[in-house]
Amino acid sequence: MGGASRGAEDREDAPMPVAGASAGPGALARPGPGPGVGVGTAGVAMLDAATYRRRVRQACERSARWLDRCIRAHRRPDEQALFGIVQGGTDLQQRDWSLQATCQFDLPGYAIGGVAVGEGHEQLRRVVEHCAPRLPEARPRYLMGVGYERDLLVAVRAGVDLFDCVLPTRNGRNGNAFTPAGQLRLRNARFRDDPAPIDPGCDCAACGGGFSRSYLRHLLSAGEMLGPVLVSLHNLRHFQRYLLDIRAAIEDNNWSLLFARWPVALAG
Ligand SMILES: [Zn+2]
Repeated sequence: MGGASRGAEDREDAPMPVAGASAGPGALARPGPGPGVGVGTAGVAMLDAATYRRRVRQACERSARWLDRCIRAHRRPDEQALFGIVQGGTDLQQRDWSLQATCQFDLPGYAIGGVAVGEGHEQLRRVVEHCAPRLPEARPRYLMGVGYERDLLVAVRAGVDLFDCVLPTRNGRNGNAFTPAGQLRLRNARFRDDPAPIDPGCDCAACGGGFSRSYLRHLLSAGEMLGPVLVSLHNLRHFQRYLLDIRAAIEDNNWSLLFARWPVALAG
């Protein structure tokens, strides 16, 4: 990397939010998967836009430098768990480089970033199945920004423990409800006279509270905020129930019941 580009990068590096630094609210760019978990995230944005091989490598190197800076700046390790993030796009060689650069540090947890950015299920599977088993087994493994049911299943079976995703609430706001058989677009006219709950097997505030698809459609059509709220609550509970069933499948070492109850786990 030449001196000129290094200078430009240094300027880009300067305002980076430093995980763990006492920089006040917003110092951590991304909420972690639980209280006290901080993740240095700036490298994710760089790689999300990186298509060409050279830029992927640059982004990996930049992420590695930021991780080093985060570790040196970390002042509250007892309160905030600093996760390293493995980058590299869909290039497994770059992933290996980033795995080595990230895992050389003994950290409370490790994340896989730069997936679910439009590469498709098969590429996501390829990257996650490559990276997850190579992360330290004794530390939580966190897949960032995922996702749909079948992506979650692939990741869990590869060894991932933690997830975050906007999908349940973003789709909820738009009136798209997740069910074990696939999504329902509740604004659709076919739900105008449908008295059923979103999912008869769900115990959320919408399904368990007696709100019909028809009434939810009315709320959404009328612009009543209760509609997006209820669908979002349902979607969150949907993924919670799904992950609980995956946990049971792991404990029982029996996946057939999961696949029978959740056809979306294999859909696509
Ligand atoms: Zn529900």
